[in-house]
Amino acid sequence: MSADSSSFEKGLNLIANILNERNINELKPYFANLDQPNQENAVPRGRVANIFLILVSEGELVIRHEGGEDISIARLMDNGYPIILHEKLVSAWRRETLEMLRHHYDTYKDNVNKIRGKNDEWHCYLRPFQGGGKRTEQKSDVEKQEKSKGKNEEYIGGLCGECPNCMIFGYAVKDGNYNVKSRIEGDLYFSTLPENKSVVVRTFNAVDETTHTTYIPTGGERTGALFRLSLIKAGTIFVGKVAIKDLSPAEFLLSLYSLVNTTRIGGVKSDFGKIKVIIPAITLCEHEVSSGYDIFTKVKDKNDTTEVVRAINSYLSENFKNCKVYTNTDFTPNINNVIKSNENEIIINAWGDSTNFKKSIEKFVNAKQSP
Ligand SMILES: [Zn+2]
Repeated sequence: MSADSSSFEKGLNLIANILNERNINELKPYFANLDQPNQENAVPRGRVANIFLILVSEGELVIRHEGGEDISIARLMDNGYPIILHEKLVSAWRRETLEMLRHHYDTYKDNVNKIRGKNDEWHCYLRPFQGGGKRTEQKSDVEKQEKSKGKNEEYIGGLCGECPNCMIFGYAVKDGNYNVKSRIEGDLYFSTLPENKSVVVRTFNAVDETTHTTYIPTGGERTGALFRLSLIKAGTIFVGKVAIKDLSPAEFLLSLYSLVNTTRIGGVKSDFGKIKVIIPAITLCEHEVSSGYDIFTKVKDKNDTTEVVRAINSYLSENFKNCKVYTNTDFTPNINNVIKSNENEIIINAWGDSTNFKKSIEKFVNAKQSP
């Protein structure tokens, strides 16, 4: 954070470039200034960026949720539409953010440690299930059991509680007196096409990893067999929205960058799950507007991304005049171009802002506890 211009202003300028906004004062009310710790920033202040998303499957997609079904289907208007839960996107998004932070840390360790005020090695990772275990198809029952204990528990153990990933997406403090809630919230991502047009069932040969056979021990857990999977067809379009609340400009830029570079979601990621993220619109408001379902009703049965983009853009431009509505065929190339050439500075500033956000929360908690 250099003396000539604050991290806040620099970040706003980059966001203005991405959105093609000429006046950064138009953006100011919607982002947190975390240049200094300030307990006023510990609580939500109605600064919301609504990011409208189109996720396109680039190959066949395995999307498993708890409950055993291969694909979750929403029953809407006499038809079933596949859905992706926000949780699925978020875990891939968090992993991408962590990869970026680690990559940066390897080169700029001293700078980051200075911001942390620590000299030890920074580590932060998502531990998917307590007690470890390899993430394979055969472990899906374990996954279900572990998950049923509560989804917050999924993340306890590996998270550092100090990095931008933790401060943006939230974490639970094991022995502490507060939890950091995610400042990114989403709901559901709906397929624009019903299941009879977007799902295909395939049979696979599951090979037992120990014996390299497809033998199934009787009565035991499934270790190998032919199995059937329902897959999302390549080219299927999902639409949805995330609300990004009270982030600083640098935290916002880092989140957008990792979002557009999230290329795989769902189970069996090595073989399936490639997606493309398109951002047709961003609205800045005092509150959350629209939803995955709302957008879905505007683009239902459309099977062409250009048409979907156009429908979302015109719906938002016409109906949310109280917000700043920014539309584009896709903000992704802008996001990549602007952020790539400022990557180090953005990540360093995100570390500084997240550290100040943590200090802001601690100030707030302490102020509340003192008589
Ligand atoms: Zn962390």
